[in-house]
Amino acid sequence: MRRIQHFIDGELRAGTSGRSSDVYNPATGEVQAQVDLASVAEVDQAVVSASAAAVEWAESSLTQRTQIMFRFRELLAGRVDELARIISSEHGKVISDAAGEVARGLENVEFACGIAHHLKGEINEQVSAGIEVYSLRQPLGVVAGITPFNFPAMVPSWMFATAIACGNAFICKPSERDPSASMLIAEWFIEAGLPPGVFSVVNGDKVAVDALIDHEDVAAISFVGSTPIASYVYNRGTAMGKRVQALGGAKNHMLVLPDADIDMAADAAVSAAYGSAGERCMAISALIAVGSVADELVEAISTRIPGIKVGAGDEPDAEMGPLITEEHCARVAGYVERAQEAGAVAVVDGSQADVPKNGFFYGPTLLDDVTPEMECYRDEIFGPVLVVVRVETFREAIDLINSNPFGNGTAIFTRDGGAARQFQHEVQVGMVGINVPIPVPVAYHSFGGWKSSLFGDTHMYGPEGVRFYTRAKAVTARWPDPSSSQIDLGFPRNN
Ligand code: NAD
Repeated sequence: MRRIQHFIDGELRAGTSGRSSDVYNPATGEVQAQVDLASVAEVDQAVVSASAAAVEWAESSLTQRTQIMFRFRELLAGRVDELARIISSEHGKVISDAAGEVARGLENVEFACGIAHHLKGEINEQVSAGIEVYSLRQPLGVVAGITPFNFPAMVPSWMFATAIACGNAFICKPSERDPSASMLIAEWFIEAGLPPGVFSVVNGDKVAVDALIDHEDVAAISFVGSTPIASYVYNRGTAMGKRVQALGGAKNHMLVLPDADIDMAADAAVSAAYGSAGERCMAISALIAVGSVADELVEAISTRIPGIKVGAGDEPDAEMGPLITEEHCARVAGYVERAQEAGAVAVVDGSQADVPKNGFFYGPTLLDDVTPEMECYRDEIFGPVLVVVRVETFREAIDLINSNPFGNGTAIFTRDGGAARQFQHEVQVGMVGINVPIPVPVAYHSFGGWKSSLFGDTHMYGPEGVRFYTRAKAVTARWPDPSSSQIDLGFPRNN
């Protein structure tokens, strides 16, 4: 059985805790590897190595850092297919989708190649006679990233690219369900010339997460995962005095107005609800149909669903793969059953779909006549289930979205510019799409939700990522004309 170890100090390290976890191939249901789960002592070894590396790395020139980042970019860009295959085999998503996540991750590496522009300080000349004030941004030291199963390459890239380019050492704790992408990235960084210890991987579960949060030499924690764990990591980390950004779960609404292009809206809803089997934090999971559009839209979506090819990720024509585990598959099925008991109408019931029997497959599901009190509307199901809530007015739709505890992503489909403008202005959600169903910002903007979808002050990657992974220092300097020097016991005033 393949064994997935840790990557510490520039090399593979076998786990010594005696604990490990199964890594499945969700398309077959078989265990394909065992991943070592780190102990507190193993996390400490990674932090000791990273701390030593961070000191030297912070002293490296911007030229050195960006040259390594450019080399890494070239390696990654040339190996998208290799990475996509390993992601697909452990996560289940189809290879084209996995390649898409690598491509979006690559954008963050490309952003990091231009880090020098983002680390430019600011200066005011002559704030007082002969005095300049300038601000610098310096790295934090050792920073850690704890990542979810659903984007095993892209989400770590949101963190490590900026963190490393800013001069920090980065420790990744990937999801124990699909850890191999991070391990490959660690090896490729060494190949690109990154010094050992600047990028490490500790595999593990809660023990490793807690050890990273509690370690006094870890300066900051970036987390992406479910809301309860995001809240826990944020509270525990900030209580330790650390900087924490913790991104949580979502219930992303797509609002469709009666003037929308029905075919375009239906295509977008199907793509955004069922892509990656709904296991995306930006998946559309609630469709809010305003007024007369509902019947036509539900019909258009339901006629598209049978055309979705469900299969193993490496089948050439597969469009939707399995879910991550058997338990998760059963959880999704439970939601669909209980929704129907509560009065929702299963226009398409995924439990009846013709899907492969061996793996953790569940068919695309469309639930109509869902009301906001129903569990299937309130909870993040994180599966291929789209619920339709019918409302009478645009106002009702905005109020419904704004009363939801999550605020990650949302989209409006309309041909009315004024309505779109009002939506973007009033909606209490961090990322908004206008006729764009999955509005993940490009790498030079920042990614983050509002409300229960993000704990902390800074969004991830882009300009806010640079701020998160650096701290500011303001320098007040005087290089006076020696002839003007004099003693003055008064409080310094600006003249
Ligand atoms: P998860 O919260 O179960 O796990 C995330 C990470 O936390 C993993 O590395 C895991 O090992 C660790 N973890 C799990 N339980 C823990 C515990 N009790 N204590 C400490 N650490 C623990 O999330 P997941 O199932 O891997 O990912 C799916 C979730 O992530 C969904 O809710 C999804 O919406 C969310 N997500 C959010 C975003 C975003 O940008 N907001 C992006 C991707 C995924």
